[in-house]
Amino acid sequence: MLLDLTPEQRAFKESIEQFARGVVAPRAAAIDESGEFPLDVIRAAAGRGLLGVAVSKAWGGLGLDYLSYALAIEAVARASATLAASLVVTNSLVAELVAYAGDQFQKEQWLRALASGKTIGAFALSEPEAGTDAANQQTRAVKAGAGYRITGQKVWVANADAAAVAVVFAVTRPGAGTHGITAFLVPMDAPGITRRARDDSLGVRGLGCMDLDFEVEVGESQVLGPVDQGFRLAMWALQGGRVAIAAQALGIGEAAIDEAIRHAKARKQFGEPIANYQAIQWMLADVATELAAARMLTWKAAVAKDGQESRMVGASMAKLAASEAAHKAADKAMQILASAGYRRGSVVERLFRDVRATEIYQGTSEAQRMIIAERELGI
Ligand SMILES: Cc1cc2nc3c(=O)[nH]c(=O)nc-3n(C[C@H](O)[C@H](O)[C@H](O)COP(=O)(O)OP(=O)(O)OC[C@H]3O[C@@H](n4cnc5c(N)ncnc54)[C@H](O)[C@@H]3O)c2cc1C
Repeated sequence: MLLDLTPEQRAFKESIEQFARGVVAPRAAAIDESGEFPLDVIRAAAGRGLLGVAVSKAWGGLGLDYLSYALAIEAVARASATLAASLVVTNSLVAELVAYAGDQFQKEQWLRALASGKTIGAFALSEPEAGTDAANQQTRAVKAGAGYRITGQKVWVANADAAAVAVVFAVTRPGAGTHGITAFLVPMDAPGITRRARDDSLGVRGLGCMDLDFEVEVGESQVLGPVDQGFRLAMWALQGGRVAIAAQALGIGEAAIDEAIRHAKARKQFGEPIANYQAIQWMLADVATELAAARMLTWKAAVAKDGQESRMVGASMAKLAASEAAHKAADKAMQILASAGYRRGSVVERLFRDVRATEIYQGTSEAQRMIIAERELGI
């Protein structure tokens, strides 16, 4: 039964916290303000092995367990939610998926470069008509010569601004639902890909989200995993991604609590620091407790990811609990800072915007509840 970290996990966590405080935190406000993809900070994170934390050393990763990866994402998110989200895409949704389903050629071509941070990855599942209903893919991949012709549109593709490769999902057997979708590894410089910048977003600004139009030819060698099994692979990747987004949410929530505590101790009203008032103390106590509970679910789901047991429901519970606890933490931090938090450019104002995405991407809270309820009801 897991209740604490090993000395190695603790040391790794502390080293990433130091990196996040020293290198990432000073850039967080500028990343948010400019909305530009932070390639310099990603390169710095790559230098710490943060683009392939759970990828084996043989392929250029750190070869660490999933809990260590979750600890790293939480530490980074405490400094910059944007950087953490970008790392989750390359790690969980691309590099780990190539390690899991890729053949030797694909691993040689992409995995080492992804895990070492030379290449950034993107994951293109969502479409205008396929959000929560991700199986409703309209993108088609039709046999053409020795490969496939992929035609369609993907939306909200994070990292697309700088990615060299994208995992693209397309229907190969129309009418077969989740059993007729195939995953492809598509180089982003292939002729026939049009990148379109998305409108400005509320939070996690600088995530490099773009919409992509495909009119592209790919070879057989770019099929990732078995033909028609791509949806299963997408769900496999999202299990890890949801654990990591839970960790991201925890980091944002902790940052909000840090800000609230700092302010509550410094700000005096009625002659006393507001931290002395029970109304403030109870807000802090509640959100600290809910984040701690969510952290246990996140750690449990991370440990399960390394094991053999079915993990989807645990990852969904972790993401649901952590994202909602973090949302509440940011909300209460805003209440405790009041006008000081409501000011444009305050840290809490940024956290309040950033945290909202954790309840939307990699499956909304409703999608997580559907998965949990189906397990509970046995349907
Ligand atoms: C910042 C950001 C980054 C993203 N990055 C990526 C990425 O890299 N790759 C990618 O593929 N996608 C990405 N996405 C897309 C994201 O995964 C989708 O936005 C998400 O899955 C929800 O889809 P939707 O926005 O179309 O909402 P919809 O599916 O239209 O849902 C709208 C509302 O209806 C609810 N709903 C839908 N169906 C049901 C139901 N059956 N029962 C109850 N409620 C339901 C939803 O929970 C939600 O509240 C990103 C999104 C954002 C905001």
